[in-house]
Amino acid sequence: MVSEMSKKIKGIEASPGIAIGKIFLYQEQELVIKTEKVGNTDNEKERLLEGREKSKEQLLKIREKTAEKLGEDKAAIFDGHITLLEDEDLFDEVTEIIEDENICAEAALQMGIDEYCEMLANLEDEYLRERAADLKDIGKRWLYNTAGIEIIDLSSLPANTIIAAKDLTPSDTAQIDLNNVVAFITEVGGKTAHSSIMARSLELPAIVGTGNICSLVKSGDTVIVDALKGDIIINPTEEEIGKYEEKRNNFFAEKELLKQLKDKEAISLDGTKVGTWANIGSPKDVDGVLRNGATGIGLYRTEFLFMNNDRFPTEDEQFEAYKTVAERMEGKPVTIRTMDIGGDKSLPYMQLPKEENPFLGWRAIRVCLDRTEILKTQFRALLRASAFGYIKIMLPMIMDITEIRRARAILEECKAELQTEGAKFDENIALGIMVETPAVAFRARSFAEEVDFFSIGTNDLTQYTLAVDRGNEHISKLYNTYNPGVLEAIRLAIKGAHEAGITISMCGEFAGDENATAVLFGMGLDAFSMSAISVPKIKKNLMTLDKKKCEELVDTIMKLRTSEEILEVVKKFNKENMRETCWNGVFANMDFGNEYESETSRS
Ligand code: PEP
Ligand code: MG
Repeated sequence: MVSEMSKKIKGIEASPGIAIGKIFLYQEQELVIKTEKVGNTDNEKERLLEGREKSKEQLLKIREKTAEKLGEDKAAIFDGHITLLEDEDLFDEVTEIIEDENICAEAALQMGIDEYCEMLANLEDEYLRERAADLKDIGKRWLYNTAGIEIIDLSSLPANTIIAAKDLTPSDTAQIDLNNVVAFITEVGGKTAHSSIMARSLELPAIVGTGNICSLVKSGDTVIVDALKGDIIINPTEEEIGKYEEKRNNFFAEKELLKQLKDKEAISLDGTKVGTWANIGSPKDVDGVLRNGATGIGLYRTEFLFMNNDRFPTEDEQFEAYKTVAERMEGKPVTIRTMDIGGDKSLPYMQLPKEENPFLGWRAIRVCLDRTEILKTQFRALLRASAFGYIKIMLPMIMDITEIRRARAILEECKAELQTEGAKFDENIALGIMVETPAVAFRARSFAEEVDFFSIGTNDLTQYTLAVDRGNEHISKLYNTYNPGVLEAIRLAIKGAHEAGITISMCGEFAGDENATAVLFGMGLDAFSMSAISVPKIKKNLMTLDKKKCEELVDTIMKLRTSEEILEVVKKFNKENMRETCWNGVFANMDFGNEYESETSRS
């Protein structure tokens, strides 16, 4: 049914693409549990066991799918869930309730889980306290299966489905069947939410942070998802459908065309070679890196290896992950960042203090330099993996040169140990830092003289320069990397790096902002690192630019005073310089649409 009046709402574009489909409203079914007396308790115990078996089977399937799509490290989270489900103490406790009270399996199970959760929630140990949330989740699955209520299976939805949900967990996202689901929309979340990062690796269009989508749509509604602009059109008109079908076809056509750049390097019109690298969160993401023709990895966020786990990963486990990535990249640079925990990223098994200002608190390198055994284990794993490819080590959240020197001393200690053990590693392994604090940007040259490379983390650099929380949706309009203060910090970082003779890349979201390519190239950035799906487009942009013209653009915009004025000039420049330019004839007469819409690099 096509309506005459459509409704448009806005969200945050989390993973690019256009989709037209029918809504599947993903909401939990309600289970009302009545405490019924029973005559035959054996029967209830049998049902309880069957419910547990069925839950285990489902979790194993989800685990398998997750491993297939997203890799072993993300799948490992479900091992912990299965262990909790199979806890014999819990099972015995529930069967005792059935026998003592002569009640049905569901009521006893609910009581048992509640008691267990309460007991866990009151424990001192933070890790065990966190397990209460997992148990609630698993308990629900077990209850549904015992009661014979079907659990929604996201892996078997009809063709052309758009999922609308309050939020999607990693297990939900892992189950999505990419043949039938064409997009998802959630009420909460930002660009750096787990589900958004997964959507980008799956190349599934997604819009998040929509506020109240679930109360605006019902299953079966036709919806357009424009995840290039963050627009959702509910019950579109015929005319709107036609317009977006064309936009979708153009998006696919452009994607196909850009594939031709896969094996090319980004060389600008004046002959400057620029790195087009990708960011990854797990070894499995290398598939997307290779598919999109990235020429290196500019950021491997190792914290997912730590977060999707129920304990610290061992040196060998880390080694295997880093080695896999290094080998698959066949000598291309692989920049691996040491654990960046804290801020909005917590570890269930590690006691992190409750802080008033977590982003200004005990996070990243600060944690690693206080708990040096964590850094040592990671350095040893990285060094050992460096024998299998081109690994570079990167330290996050640096603001003081002493931090670099202390980290380097630990790295040297690890090298000496491995030498004694006879292990092979790259003795000249590069050690670099992220430029994420204004303190580094202001004094870039002195920091640059202490390290082998820089990478600008604009997600944090923007938040720290502007004093605007990157995850706070109430002030997201203020979070703007085109603010002249942030651009100045970026410019200073590049200048300082080059004065000291080191290379500088960017791995914050701004590197993938199609509007910003000319500005960053003009400032002299050596490599752009972004979501793998953004690589072809940024490569294309670079191939259509002339360095001198971009330098002039930078001179012009750095004299302006507001982000609005800057963006206006940048957009005009892009329109004149990046449109209808051809690369070796391949793109002759091709209109790239020039939809340079994304104006900020929100995280
Ligand atoms: C950044 O801050 O720009 C960055 C790349 O790091 P993260 O987003 O992981 O904090
Ligand atoms: Mg950061």
